[in-house]
Amino acid sequence: LVTSLTSVYVRAMIDYWPQEDPDIPCMDAGLPFLKGDILQIVDQSDALWWQARKISDLAICAGLIPSNHLLKRKQREFWWSQPYQPHTCLKSTRCECAYVSSHFSQLHANMRCTCSCYSAVGAPYEEVVRYQRQPADKHRLIVLVGPSGVGVNELRRQLIGCNPSCFQSAVPHTTRSPKSYEMDGREYHYVSRETFESLMYGHRMLEFGEYKGHLYGTSVNAVLAVLDEGKICVMDLEPQDIQLARTRELKPYVIFIKPPSMSSMRHSRRNAKIITDYFVDMKFKDEDLQEMEELAQKMESQFGQFFDHVIVNDNLQDARAQLLSAIQKAEEELQWVPEAWVS
Ligand code: 5GP
Repeated sequence: LVTSLTSVYVRAMIDYWPQEDPDIPCMDAGLPFLKGDILQIVDQSDALWWQARKISDLAICAGLIPSNHLLKRKQREFWWSQPYQPHTCLKSTRCECAYVSSHFSQLHANMRCTCSCYSAVGAPYEEVVRYQRQPADKHRLIVLVGPSGVGVNELRRQLIGCNPSCFQSAVPHTTRSPKSYEMDGREYHYVSRETFESLMYGHRMLEFGEYKGHLYGTSVNAVLAVLDEGKICVMDLEPQDIQLARTRELKPYVIFIKPPSMSSMRHSRRNAKIITDYFVDMKFKDEDLQEMEELAQKMESQFGQFFDHVIVNDNLQDARAQLLSAIQKAEEELQWVPEAWVS
């Protein structure tokens, strides 16, 4: 991070509780923060301990937080204390290690690279600046994330269906052959497995999966094709795939769709007729909802630092209206984005 006379702002990528940090010089002076909080760093003169304020709470005095250097040192110590299993790094040119790349971690869960990529693991702070999209700028990619069954797909479908001149999905790639009524570039881009894999390993596939022996996935170029048409590209991603989309060229605005809590569902069922229509229409059982709530909590605690906005889908119509308004804000208002996206 660059020290300068003007303030530096960072997004916290980890939770920090001073009470649980045995190394803090003065526990009472510590500033607790959560993943996703934007912090104004007011003093970086000490190599190990900085002073910072939360921008959501500027009235509160600055407190001590561990410096980037100190947190990285702790992370490295933790990293090397974990069981080690050497393997060949598939991403020799730009390895970002198993914990950073979801694709890599899916292939090599619990393995570490033998290269020195560990230093890139999970930077604790991300420098951010305020960004406002100008009319001449490309639209930002809108990414919807949420547990299966929460209505992410349906919301995307409705959003595009109601405003096809404004929103569009990217055309996915597949290695299967086209059916008689399909056209290359309309339903899919039909490519060989070799081409698909070269896109995958070249980090040009934002997400992919295998179905009945064929690969399917969405490429960066397919998203750019929508943005180049002047439309807003909307896509669903698994939370572990968000990292790959977080680039200057796509500037994704990530919206997390979460289910209403079980307790609020029970409350509305007991007290009102306005039962959460989406979940009733979908005939979810209590156990399904419980599972969805647990998964949503897991996603939020693991990937919440990447979410720009959260919508609770307890009614599809309301959620769609909230989604439209969130996208409008992303387009028209100042937003915190990584400094690297605009410098
Ligand atoms: P079909 O071959 O019938 O068009 O699609 C079969 C399945 O491929 C879909 O049900 C879905 O599971 C998967 N699929 C289609 N498009 C994509 C995509 O863009 N990404 C991923 N990961 N899977 C897809």
